[in-house]
Amino acid sequence: MAVFRPTEKDPLKWPKAVRPQWRTSRRIGIHTSIAAGVENAAERAYRLGCNTFQIFSTSPRQWRPYELGRTQCEIMNRLRQQYDLKPLVIHSNYLINLAGTNEPFLKKSVEAFRGELERALALCAEYLVLHPGSFRGASREEGLERTAIAIAEASKGLDLAKGGLTVLIENTAGAEYSLGGTFEQVAELIEMLCRTLPVAACIDTCHVHVAGYDIVSDDGRKLTLQHLERTVGLKNVRVWHCNDAKAERGSRLDRHEHIGRGKLGLEVFRALLNDRRLRNAAFIAETPIDDPGDDLRNVESLKKLVV
Ligand SMILES: [Zn+2]
Ligand SMILES: [Zn+2]
Repeated sequence: MAVFRPTEKDPLKWPKAVRPQWRTSRRIGIHTSIAAGVENAAERAYRLGCNTFQIFSTSPRQWRPYELGRTQCEIMNRLRQQYDLKPLVIHSNYLINLAGTNEPFLKKSVEAFRGELERALALCAEYLVLHPGSFRGASREEGLERTAIAIAEASKGLDLAKGGLTVLIENTAGAEYSLGGTFEQVAELIEMLCRTLPVAACIDTCHVHVAGYDIVSDDGRKLTLQHLERTVGLKNVRVWHCNDAKAERGSRLDRHEHIGRGKLGLEVFRALLNDRRLRNAAFIAETPIDDPGDDLRNVESLKKLVV
């Protein structure tokens, strides 16, 4: 079979027949563009050979939310069924900080997060990923507590369980004042929230590495996964963000790299994808697109590692 070399960045402009044929027993996908409408992401994900995918449901760096029509949700549902794309993961807006001390900003964040929850429910998404935020101006404990209160407030009156939606707390690169740089902090937040709403974790491989955990050496990865099991619990990690890292371990620099081309290397992803304890998780890349087809290549890199 001839290798397809895309010249266009947008998979919607590729011939439909190029979808890679091989199947995988894991759920593997990539963060996908919602350009020209959220529902187009499903078609793009399919053409990239995904069986799961992640999107933003609005512009990730603006407060004003996108309007989401009923028809868009219906098209999304139809395409997801037709192409067997599940779960659908939505990543929250980056501006949201539910741990902050600035009242007007916190209010804005709560409103924006409520919008995220409402759109995730309307789109029948399984997961909504949230970065736990920055506690600058207060203590870490206060930050955690404020986040838990803010999430509870934002979700008031919404039935997430009925909608099949779970909020996922993502581990972060551990920058100063940011919550979620350790597994303990992710676990603590889940513990605080689990009585209010369905909540679990999303673990990002690049963030794990730059936050200082060893997932590269075999022994280090074994210990890191043991630590993750003892704190968050491996069964609670519903989504793995599969990103290689440009920066060194412990650098706290969050720079994603193509699968296998960074400081992590292919073996890390091979180990995670084939770990029986993680077989029910979704593996989603958030890798850069420097050249047309980088997204396709990163999805294929992950799929090829599954034995
Ligand atoms: Zn991530
Ligand atoms: Zn990142």
